[in-house]
Amino acid sequence: MQTKSIKQYLEYLKLSGIQDIFVKPKLSIDKTELLQELEKKYQSCTKCALHSGRNKFCYGNGNADARLMIISEGPGADEDRIGKVFVGRSDQLLTKMLSAINLSRDEVYISNIVKCRPPNNRNPLPEEKRACLPYLEEQISIIQPEFILMLGKVAAVTLLEIDQTLKAFREHTYLYKGITTFVSYHPSALLRNPNWKKFAWIDLQKLQKDYFG
Ligand code: SF4
Repeated sequence: MQTKSIKQYLEYLKLSGIQDIFVKPKLSIDKTELLQELEKKYQSCTKCALHSGRNKFCYGNGNADARLMIISEGPGADEDRIGKVFVGRSDQLLTKMLSAINLSRDEVYISNIVKCRPPNNRNPLPEEKRACLPYLEEQISIIQPEFILMLGKVAAVTLLEIDQTLKAFREHTYLYKGITTFVSYHPSALLRNPNWKKFAWIDLQKLQKDYFG
């Protein structure tokens, strides 16, 4: 409605005896737009030492309305070069793993514990994880997924705050911030050790069962 016609309509209501109009605030948000704005806002972050070796900030990518959010450890060399979470062979394997349980990449959102690459692919340090975690927590609270799949021990130890082996993590499902959470292998670990793929398949089937309920 044009401004002029809104004014005319309000005038008409006033003449009809209606003095007060309550306008319901717009509650729906465009999650994609919001995440894009936040990505821009944080892309020059210098909150921890990892910023000094950063080529590209890897915030996260995928469907902002995803029912499943996948969380990994941090960007590798290719991700750092391109600025996207999961690229190359790990990305291809992840796509295949999702497709095996009837999910497409377009349906999920993928992010990392730290958004800048740790040098030589070392594990992120406690202070780096602490500095970066609020960005991931904010992403989770915007996306509000029904399920989380944590890939690799670092992601699981950091978020679930339990120090145990990946094998032990995989034996259970968890509630992280009230969200049903699964833990499995990182695709790069599966590329190094193809024998573990059969175990990853068991994890994915558990997720599939709950997801499609
Ligand atoms: Fe900032 Fe996170 Fe990058 Fe550290 S890893 S500089 S906290 S965006």
